Amino acid sequence: MSINEKQFVFTKHLGSLLVYGTHVLGLTLSIRECQRFPGRQQELYDAGMSDTLKSAHLNSLAADILLFRDGIPIWDIDDLDYKKLGLYWESLHGVWGGRFIMESNGSDPTHFEWGERMR
Ligand SMILES: [Zn+2]
Repeated sequence: MSINEKQFVFTKHLGSLLVYGTHVLGLTLSIRECQRFPGRQQELYDAGMSDTLKSAHLNSLAADILLFRDGIPIWDIDDLDYKKLGLYWESLHGVWGGRFIMESNGSDPTHFEWGERMR
């Protein structure tokens, strides 16, 4: 599958995730970063906020989605609503950052990434 084809499939599933989160679960969500340029990835890596220079964001194959409650961003990596989103994403064969174990800051439940089994 080409990068373009992966992006089309990823975008389709990302739409499903957003509908599930907002309309089914009733959550307040905001997309933060999707496409990322190499300079930004280097910046995050240098700051210890990413463990890789080969992020799926560089190919627009990952999106960071932040959950809000009462207008306040939720950064709790153990928040149950992130887990619900993550489990749904995994049911679509995506890779969920809530499963990551990063040296820098533990898992990354806001991160939803392309999975090789996505169709
Ligand atoms: Zn991310």
